[in-house]
Amino acid sequence: MAVSKTEPEQFDVLIVGAGISGIDAAYRLKQRCPGMRFAILEARNRVGGTWDLFRYPGVRSDSDMFTLGFPFRPWRSDLAIVGGDAIRSYIEDTAREFGLFERIRFGHAAKSASWSTATARWTVETNHGPFACRFLYLASGYYDYGQGYRPSWPDEDKFAGLIVHPQAWP
Ligand SMILES: Cc1cc2nc3c(=O)[nH]c(=O)nc-3n(C[C@H](O)[C@H](O)[C@H](O)COP(=O)(O)OP(=O)(O)OC[C@H]3O[C@@H](n4cnc5c(N)ncnc54)[C@H](O)[C@@H]3O)c2cc1C
Repeated sequence: MAVSKTEPEQFDVLIVGAGISGIDAAYRLKQRCPGMRFAILEARNRVGGTWDLFRYPGVRSDSDMFTLGFPFRPWRSDLAIVGGDAIRSYIEDTAREFGLFERIRFGHAAKSASWSTATARWTVETNHGPFACRFLYLASGYYDYGQGYRPSWPDEDKFAGLIVHPQAWP
């Protein structure tokens, strides 16, 4: 998508990522700092991060959900270990319940961030133009969403089967 604006949209806080961490941060901001202007920039078109990306059969948490879940919206199921779909739905339902969905800019990938001491603001460049904020909160996870790590193995070319990366399950 081409850059559509040149003047940055102004916020107090920008959160990058609408996974479990970004939704948690947004909830805290909304509850504790109600007047604060904030938005979540999310590169994907759905919430959930990890639990939206990984779709291989049997993907699930290894922590119990009573621990992994939000303290402000406890996990109510009897099942402690559940599949990725259930975790994604839980994150999405939480975002909806607390009015966080309208704060999310889906399809907005943060490309770079630069700090200005003169204005005491971050400028965050995205594929939809620049955004500015006083505080930048990175909840962007710990792996590359675009290209997962792909090692090579000796004699890999002799393997007749299909090699599938878990981040790109067909
Ligand atoms: C199979 C699997 C099982 C796991 N099980 C557990 C478990 O049981 N317990 C546990 O504690 N952890 C587990 N993890 C780790 C899991 O990743 C974290 O628990 C948690 O989901 C991370 O949440 P997060 O919001 O910090 O990051 P993520 O879920 O990675 O979300 C990051 C979000 O940021 C967005 N983003 C990234 N870069 C940009 C950018 N430049 N611009 C805009 N948006 C961006 C992404 O699109 C994504 O939506 C597991 C991971 C995997 C892969």
